[in-house]
Formats: sequence, C-alpha cells, structure tokens
Amino acid sequence: MEIKPFENKVWLSSPTMHGEEIEFVKEAYETNWMSTVGANINEVEKLVCEKVGCKYAVALASGTSALHMAVKLAGVKPGEKVFCTDMTFDATVNPVVYEGGVPVLIDTEYDTWNMDPEALRRAFEIYPEVKVCVLAHLYGVPAKLDEIKSICEEHGAVLIEDAAESLGATYKGVQTGSFGDYSAISFNGNKIITGSSGGMLLTDSLESANKVRKWSTQARDNAPWYQHTELGYNYRMSNVIAGVVRGQLPHLEEHIAQKKAIYERYKEGFKDLPVKMNPFDEENAVPNYWLSCMIIDEAAMCHQERGDLTATYETESGKSCPTEILEAITAINAEGRPIWKPMHMQPIYKNNPFITREGDGRAEGKFSVGADIFHRGLCLPSDNKMTAQQQAVIIEAIRKCFE
Ligand SMILES: *Cc1c(COP(=O)(O)O)cnc(C)c1O
Repeated sequence: MEIKPFENKVWLSSPTMHGEEIEFVKEAYETNWMSTVGANINEVEKLVCEKVGCKYAVALASGTSALHMAVKLAGVKPGEKVFCTDMTFDATVNPVVYEGGVPVLIDTEYDTWNMDPEALRRAFEIYPEVKVCVLAHLYGVPAKLDEIKSICEEHGAVLIEDAAESLGATYKGVQTGSFGDYSAISFNGNKIITGSSGGMLLTDSLESANKVRKWSTQARDNAPWYQHTELGYNYRMSNVIAGVVRGQLPHLEEHIAQKKAIYERYKEGFKDLPVKMNPFDEENAVPNYWLSCMIIDEAAMCHQERGDLTATYETESGKSCPTEILEAITAINAEGRPIWKPMHMQPIYKNNPFITREGDGRAEGKFSVGADIFHRGLCLPSDNKMTAQQQAVIIEAIRKCFE
C-alpha cells in the first residue's frame, strides 16, 4: 500500500454536522430568541433527560461549568479533600479547586483505564473524612461503576460523574451520566456530539437543579431589582448553541456506530502486532467508542524519554513507542494524541496527594498504572468522517513503525 500524506487532514475527533443544526439556529435568529432562554434550550434539556434517564438537566456554557456546579452542590468547602480520577482531562479536577477544595488523585486500573476501586478503597482508609468523589469515564469507556458506587455509599460520599466523554455509553444497560448524585456532560467541539461548546448538569434532585438554574444566571433573587444573596455565575447555555445541540442529538447513536466501526477496524488491523486497544468490560459495559486508543506491550516498547515539554526515543527493529507512532501519524497529515497525562504528573498538581493500591503513590519507587498507560499508550485518529481507506493508510503507517 502506498503511504502518502492525506490532502485533507484526518482529525482526532472533529465536529460532524448534519444540516438540522442550522435550521434550529435559524429559528432562534428569526424568532429573536438570541439569549440564554428559548425553545432550543427547553427542548435539549428534555431530550437529554429522556436519553440519559435522569429527572433534571440544566443546560450550561460548558462541561467544566457543569462540573463546577456539581462540586458546589456537593458542598465542597475550602481546604476539604476530594477524591478524583487521576488519568483524565484537567477539567475533571479543576472545578474542585475553584471551590477551594484539594484534589486527592486516585490511580487507574488496566481493565477500563478509569479510577481503580482498590485504590479508592485505600484512599478512604487514609482519608476517612472525605465526602466527595469525582469519577470520569475516559474516552467513552464506563468505569467500574458497581464497585465505585458501593465504596462511596459505604463512606456516605457524594458521587460526581464526569460523563463529558461518555454520552451514550451504558453500564449494565444504564446510561452513564445517571449514576452520579450530580453528573456532567459536554458538547465541546471534539465530543461525540457538539454544540460547538456547551454542557449540562444532570441530577434527579429538583432542589439541586433549581439551585443550578439560579447560580448559573447570576443568582438573582426574586425581587423587582437586581438583588443577590448568593454568589452567582454567568454559566447558562445560549439558545443559539442549544440549536446546534438540538440538531445533533438525533445523530448520537449514528455517531456511536461510526466510532465503533473505527475501533473495530483498528483492532482487526493491529491483531498481529504487539499492541492492544483501550479495553472495556465486554460483559457489562457498552462504550460510546469516542476515541480509539492503543497500548504497546511492554516487551515491544523501544526506549522513549519524556521530559516536561518534549519527548525523545530510539528506533529499534520490531519495537516502537507512542512518540514514534505519533510522528508517523503526523507525517501523513493525521492527528493522534498522547494519552491524557495523569493529573499526579502535572506541574499544577505535583503537590496533591496521589493514592495507588499500595497507598502513597508519591513514595519513592512506587508504581503507577496511569503513568504506565501514559508511557505506552496513545489516542488514534477517531474522526467520524475518516473513510475506511484513510484508516487503512493510518493502520499501515503504524504497522511500519514495528518493522
Ligand atoms: C471535555 C471534558 C470536560 C470539559 O468539558 P468542556 O465542555 O470542554 O468544558 C470535562 N471532563 C472531561 C473528561 C472532558 O473530556
């Protein structure tokens, strides 16, 4: 097969539009509902509740603002510790800090690449006073929800679910985004469906939903003038953005089917290589396959060094590493990405506690599953619009790295 660069870049995950979006945006324009109220907002809140199976949805400016509202609902106070997924995008963890909380980072397991229940159990032994846990479902793969939910219940802790990457994924037939006391989803441009931006707070509590409606519109009291008793935010979703989301929602299952086909073509294309795809619990979970990822077997890793800002490697026959593969992907005008660098390795969180199965993950010589997956794994081009032919070229370019 000839390997030459694509004329048009193949993205990691870019917006896929269908036409209905512009109709709802136009309707907002023509009826002059060009603000943070309107029919599109009401409709997307209703549609998401029906899809996810939660009672209330509050449309917000982003997934990050939804997580911030969730942390505030959970009552996190300055100085309080909060258990958080370690290997995730930093928007999972930052909202804890917005409220003055202290993220305690929990290591990852190999079965789903999410929070390790064993490490969480250990963390509750070390910090029994913790009352809130923020759990992400990385790359659209549901975490070990039964275990994590029951550990949280045992300790009377509130569960915040970060389902930003996992909209449409299910665990034992139940949608992610419905397990948390408070959950967040995202309509960022790179997510499985998009509004260009936007997010939602999901909950079964009417009181909580009403609080978020108030806080997200600058916390106005019911008075004839602007009167404020509480601190407010300008976090509500625009009716224009909601129009895009409204046009996208009916295409969620279609996007998932496309992403699944991408995942399976990679799996087939790599079946005789010393690599594995990002795993999930095949018995209990159905991912939304948002990003296809791979991890290289330890024995097939060439030498790779990552500093704070740069990476180097040494080519070796029969072996490869994420840095070499990412270069090969870039060379054909496609976009891959390293695994989300774990929060415990981020300069900003270098002083935060990090807990593994063995306890203090920062103690000398301790092993971290997240650090290992970051070292050996990478995210593959997973765009809905990538053709099977383009994907075959990408697969070939990656196979060549192992020659
Ligand atoms: C995208 C993302 C968010 C934040 O969503 P935004 O809408 O971009 O603010 C939070 N958590 C995870 C895991 C994400 O991938």
